[in-house]
Amino acid sequence: MPKNDQKTPIQLLGLPQDNNVSYLSGPCMAPTRIREALFCDSANLWTETGFDLSDKKLWQDAGDVSLYDKTGLEAFELIHTSITKLVKSGYQVLSLGGDHSVSFPAISAHAENHGRLSILHIDAHPDLYDDMQGNSYSHASPFARLMESGLIDRLVQIGIRTLNGHQREQAARFGVEIHEMCDLSQVGSISFDRPVYLSLDMDALDPAFAPGVSHYEPGGLSTRAVLDVIHNFSGQLIGADVVELNPHRDPGNVTAMVAAKFTKEIMGRILIDRK
Ligand code: MN
Ligand code: MN
Repeated sequence: MPKNDQKTPIQLLGLPQDNNVSYLSGPCMAPTRIREALFCDSANLWTETGFDLSDKKLWQDAGDVSLYDKTGLEAFELIHTSITKLVKSGYQVLSLGGDHSVSFPAISAHAENHGRLSILHIDAHPDLYDDMQGNSYSHASPFARLMESGLIDRLVQIGIRTLNGHQREQAARFGVEIHEMCDLSQVGSISFDRPVYLSLDMDALDPAFAPGVSHYEPGGLSTRAVLDVIHNFSGQLIGADVVELNPHRDPGNVTAMVAAKFTKEIMGRILIDRK
């Protein structure tokens, strides 16, 4: 079981990489935009669960991993090393992507330290492609690589609405538990025995709520539905990432504000689960 003696503050870590996208660049600018939204005077820093995140003892900005001139496995190695260092020192890490490929090294680093992890993955896409456009480390493939690693106990996905034949086969092969958008009736009873890592792709939301993403998939989750999952699943949250915000598609920073809201509520959930 996870340790309950984790050090505060939670570490907010930027992973500004979008080398593994299949369509549009832009997510490398997301960590900066989310931080700006977090500190924007239009809102306060309290979570809905009662934590005042202006208290510097609760979390700290660990800055960005220096990825600007790094690609491929060299970038993954740097992400993996940076997160491993923090996790081994007893810190909990909330990462801001970046495209979704960053979750492979980020979650691997957590799983190696915590033993077999469960992943709660909220996304329009299952991201289980064996490869995408010849890239096996594409942002469409991180959960295939993680399930092959043997480090993952369970992968539970919510909000999926893009399953094709190949990804259905991959999901069956890896035993992925999928709550498709067309049937969310069991989401309220999701429960985990092992430590939980949350990976939140902003395109899980309906584009009406979050237009600042690369891949528009109508028929998605509301902001409130995602908050309900963050607040209410049964289990202990030990780490998370928020990925795939594309500032090029985000006039008025409305999606950055949603990502900042999730960042706050995820921190609140991590703090609650320590008790
Ligand atoms: Mn994704
Ligand atoms: Mn997605």
